[in-house]
Amino acid sequence: MRAEIISIGDELTSGQRLDSNSQWLASQLSQLGVRTVFHTTVGDSLADNVLVFQAAADRADIVISTGGLGPTADDLTREAIATAFDRPLEFRQVAMDHIENLFSKRSRTMPERNRIQAMFPIESQLINNRFGTAPGIDLTVKRSGDPNKESRIFALPGVPAEMFEMYEQVVRPRLIADLKVGQVQWFFKNIRLFGLGESDVEAKIPDLIARQREPLVGITVSRATINLRIATLASTEEDAQKQMQPTIDEIEQHLGDYIFGDDQDELWDVIVRRLAQCSETLGLIEYGAQSLMASRFTKSAALNCLSKSVLVLANWSPLKPTDENVLTQVASSDWSLVVGPWPLVRKDEQPSGEVEVTIFHRGKKIESSIMQASGHPDIVLERMAKYASQKLFFASSTSAVR
Ligand code: ATP
Repeated sequence: MRAEIISIGDELTSGQRLDSNSQWLASQLSQLGVRTVFHTTVGDSLADNVLVFQAAADRADIVISTGGLGPTADDLTREAIATAFDRPLEFRQVAMDHIENLFSKRSRTMPERNRIQAMFPIESQLINNRFGTAPGIDLTVKRSGDPNKESRIFALPGVPAEMFEMYEQVVRPRLIADLKVGQVQWFFKNIRLFGLGESDVEAKIPDLIARQREPLVGITVSRATINLRIATLASTEEDAQKQMQPTIDEIEQHLGDYIFGDDQDELWDVIVRRLAQCSETLGLIEYGAQSLMASRFTKSAALNCLSKSVLVLANWSPLKPTDENVLTQVASSDWSLVVGPWPLVRKDEQPSGEVEVTIFHRGKKIESSIMQASGHPDIVLERMAKYASQKLFFASSTSAVR
């Protein structure tokens, strides 16, 4: 089953408000095994809305729209659906009663304009809105390209709280009962990598990135961390795991050296967890003008995966790695990461400078290297912090050292 989600409103197309409804709906649909293939956002123009609804019905089995069901002149969804599918609007007393009832409960007189919310395309069903005056529309139409195929259209209000409730109480049960979705659902697994570019990753696993394969594998990059997302349709988590395992094995075989975790993990989270499991301590010494890594490691520690045995120490005074207190710290921790000096990075300037990374294990230096600052000023320091962490990650996973 393919779905399209339509978000309606000038406040969305103009960038004044972020379209969070589509994200929520797409994740709900994926729990029913429905794949959302289009997210369309359209402003408050009748002609544009008509086009959007027609295109959506022609290419998706399920269409869910949000917004444009209010009583004002810029609320055009019901008229757009009526025009797009040639289903003139008719008056529904049951919707009128609901709207009048809501106004009387609030001790207000219903403005004449709200009568429009009781108008529905012929042959459509109502979607009750317990908390608002805008009932939703549920309509099945034939596809113009293939009259043997149908598209089921649900129009919901834009107000997120009302929309959530109506989806859960009405749309979801109707999708399950009428379209028999929900037998399988989408399961996702993320594999996190660092130290390679996006295209290098693709070059190592070209067959896995192919679009028509099952399970699907996608690549995204965020702040120099690469995320490989595996997606599969299955009825249980166990089946999903079975389906994904050969793909996971292949990824590990080709990219194992760069993998550090899964889901939302960052390198520091994985390191902190591993050290905590082994009851080992970490001394973190940064010198220069910033305590870039300490903030990451302490944030990770606050995620409750840090045992008391892990010590995170930052010192952002202009230390040198040979200073007495640095050496004391290095000697007293199981692992020590000495990094610095962090360069000063200015907005709009090409970053430059070298940062030294040294790793000690129980006072013994086991590795030292130089990182060059390069890349976008907004992420250069984060990337170097990740490089330094990756070195610690590999060093601390080498069993020969333990
Ligand atoms: P209704 O159909 O209930 O009248 P509407 O389409 O008239 O809704 P608007 O008045 O445009 O809705 O918006 C109601 C509220 O919902 C506003 O705060 C709006 O920003 C918010 N909203 C509308 N669409 C979305 C969306 N796609 N994502 C997040 N918020 C949204």
